[in-house]
Amino acid sequence: MIQQNPLKAPSVPATNGSRSARANENEFRQQVRAYCEQELPPHVREKVRGNLFLSKDDNLEFLKSLAGRGWVAGHWPKAYGGAEWTPLQRFIFEEESMLGGAPWLIPFGVNYVGPVIYTFGSSAQKSRFLPPILASQEWWAQGYSEPNAGSDLAGLKTRAIRCGDHYVVTGQKVWTSYAQWADWMFCLVRTSDESRPQQGISFLLIDMHTPGITVRPIRTMDGCHHVNEVFLDEVKVPVENMVGEEGSGWSYAKFLLSNERILSSETGRSMRQLNHLKTLVNSTPSDGVQDRAAFDRRIVQMELKLHALRAFCLAYARAMNPSQPPGVEASIMKIRGSELQQEIAEATLDWLGSSAIVYDPVQVHGQHAASHVGPASTSGAVREYLHGRASTIYGGSNEIQRNIISKAELGL
Ligand SMILES: Cc1cc2nc3c(=O)[nH]c(=O)nc-3n(C[C@H](O)[C@H](O)[C@H](O)COP(=O)(O)OP(=O)(O)OC[C@H]3O[C@@H](n4cnc5c(N)ncnc54)[C@H](O)[C@@H]3O)c2cc1C
Repeated sequence: MIQQNPLKAPSVPATNGSRSARANENEFRQQVRAYCEQELPPHVREKVRGNLFLSKDDNLEFLKSLAGRGWVAGHWPKAYGGAEWTPLQRFIFEEESMLGGAPWLIPFGVNYVGPVIYTFGSSAQKSRFLPPILASQEWWAQGYSEPNAGSDLAGLKTRAIRCGDHYVVTGQKVWTSYAQWADWMFCLVRTSDESRPQQGISFLLIDMHTPGITVRPIRTMDGCHHVNEVFLDEVKVPVENMVGEEGSGWSYAKFLLSNERILSSETGRSMRQLNHLKTLVNSTPSDGVQDRAAFDRRIVQMELKLHALRAFCLAYARAMNPSQPPGVEASIMKIRGSELQQEIAEATLDWLGSSAIVYDPVQVHGQHAASHVGPASTSGAVREYLHGRASTIYGGSNEIQRNIISKAELGL
């Protein structure tokens, strides 16, 4: 029988660092744990634990509860309202909060465009855009991918033509997460065709309420509305909304992508899901698994992979210099983290067996009464599996991450 003990951090001993540094780490971990137990809104925690879909209001409540501790943008410099967390504190926050039932912090404002603005933006842009991100008053979307320009992002075709004091932007973005909630979109646009494709790209901040913008939902196979197509038809954008230099957008885009990957191991989420699976295995008979001993070995193998990934992430976070771009380690974490999430979700469905054949998207939106197809806990597990298929695609697909590793390490 598999051990009931839930995974708890820190279960991997620190590999280096002084005694007082470890005491600080543990103290910070305890603070995050206390926040999850005492301040995280309980209905948000329950939805996260049940793998249900979170509304914009749920996400806002989560952010407001973080604001009480000054943790909405803990890794930002103090000058811009952050707490100047070290990379290790940031990792501990991500891990411990997700383990404790906090949602994935929708990253587009706080983690992506915020650091681009305070690193490369004008002082007017810093004062206009950073405070509403910190206060969760303005929501952002990421307008990078286009049809035929996903992995090959430099092939993007959305065009911005300068006309006096504004740009006129025309084109299409796709897979734009939560554009339906967004007030602003940071967007890669083509301002020139003259040089290498990367050099003709600029980084533009676009007000989503401007005439000429149409957001069309894409329903994903979990029946939820996460992503969209965004059509831009002669959208007028003031010149002062260009970040940095015209034509230098590719370097800001790469800076942002490296921040994106560093958070992608999601070890806290995998710990939560693995704990859930262990509870399920010990409490609910399976009609899908014939060989119980083999299934137990499978759980132990996943647990070992998770410990190895955590040890890798912790060592990397302890050694990381935040002023340097992350190395290939970020790609390794993205690959291992996303594959492990998928493995755990798949094992959960294997255990549920035929009861996982039913799936009702109505249930994962929290409308239990309307459903006739079995317990919400099953729909939640199926949603985790279905939506999790995307984790090896977004943030740069795992094939592209492998290319990055082979180029850096093998020179291929
Ligand atoms: C749920 C979800 C949310 C997303 N949110 C956003 C968002 O908010 N904003 C945004 O801009 N984008 C977003 N994306 C888009 C995401 O970044 C792209 O889907 C991703 O970069 C892959 O691009 P693509 O879909 O065009 O696939 P393609 O680039 O067409 O790739 C298709 C397949 O070919 C493989 N492939 C491509 N090139 C190579 C190569 N050189 N070597 C080996 N294999 C290769 C890929 O790995 C993939 O398996 C999201 C995607 C998903 C699924």
